[in-house]
Amino acid sequence: MTYTSFTPPRRTLMGPGPSDISSEVLSALSRPVIGHLDPLFVGMMDEVKSLLQYAFQTKNEFTIALSAPGSAGMEACFVNLVEAGDKVIVCRNGVFGDRMIQNVTRIGAQAIIVDSPWGRAVEIDKVEQALIANPDAKFLAFVHAETSTGALSDAQALCKMAQEHKCISIVDAVTSLGGVELKVDDWGIDAIYSGSQKCLSCVPGLSPISFSDKAVEIIKNRKTPVQSWFLDQSLIMSYWSGAGKRSYHHTAPVNSLYALHEALLHLHNEGLENAWARHKLQHDQLAKGLTKLGINFIVPEDERLPQLNAIYIPDTADDAKVRNYLLNHYNLEIGAGLGDFSGKAWRIGLMGYAARNENVALCLTALEDALS
Ligand code: PLP
Repeated sequence: MTYTSFTPPRRTLMGPGPSDISSEVLSALSRPVIGHLDPLFVGMMDEVKSLLQYAFQTKNEFTIALSAPGSAGMEACFVNLVEAGDKVIVCRNGVFGDRMIQNVTRIGAQAIIVDSPWGRAVEIDKVEQALIANPDAKFLAFVHAETSTGALSDAQALCKMAQEHKCISIVDAVTSLGGVELKVDDWGIDAIYSGSQKCLSCVPGLSPISFSDKAVEIIKNRKTPVQSWFLDQSLIMSYWSGAGKRSYHHTAPVNSLYALHEALLHLHNEGLENAWARHKLQHDQLAKGLTKLGINFIVPEDERLPQLNAIYIPDTADDAKVRNYLLNHYNLEIGAGLGDFSGKAWRIGLMGYAARNENVALCLTALEDALS
């Protein structure tokens, strides 16, 4: 067997992530490796931290990028905050809410499940009923942007409700960060995690995460040590704690952090509100074109994610054949349906750098061709 270098084609990524990344972010990856405790690298990490505080709209001191994908961000929130026997209200309206439940039960905590239909936002009234019926619940967990269905939930209202019922909120912002309005401090979010590969348009494999001071206190006052050594945030805190004080925890993914720094810089330069508006604008363009093609959205208009468009596969189309046609003829990736929507839906991502006129035009042209 002979081996050669792997040279992937240049695809246009319009699925549920990873999303398209700019040439600047890509070239940041190939800058020279330096030591992860090199003072220059440490200075860059400080900037990553403050750029993440901007992206999350928070002053939380504990705002870092975990050296692992979004799933690790999710797990880090649960294993650090929740202990065996705790009661956690978990909202489920798609695949990722279900994963939260699995995290809770593996800890030996009790998940009180609030189900909302797939393709819809989390139903606020049902959550309130669960909070009233469970006054001993300590946490409320939900997914802000359900990537499996394209539904956006009202994070502001849910976190306000959590505060009123003295619950700590745990929010999945993997697909929402950078793509739709998200204000960690104003909305009173206690623990939040995201992913580098969606609307931040960075390479996959990093998970921005932020804990409020209240959440950090809970971690500091745990009755039992965190089961996971790698995700124990009390150990990671000192690694990200600032110039001069930083000590070894694990070897940071140096080049991926260069890329994240570059991607966050772009977001900062564009301005968050401009980025949110750009996602909405491109979504409106795409929606107009899809409607002309006779394609229907799964999610009602006022609950739709601009960055993740879940649409019904037309009756006359063959799911895999169409997606393969797009890939082979246009180098264009769109996403298949997930979970309950497998074989029934396509998911078209307009995430970060992919939310551009060219991408929308390419996607509409290619779909029209594939469906003809
Ligand atoms: N949560 C949501 C809402 C997601 O969309 C994803 C990934 O698509 C994850 C969590 C898990 O992130 P990762 O695949 O980076 O582990």
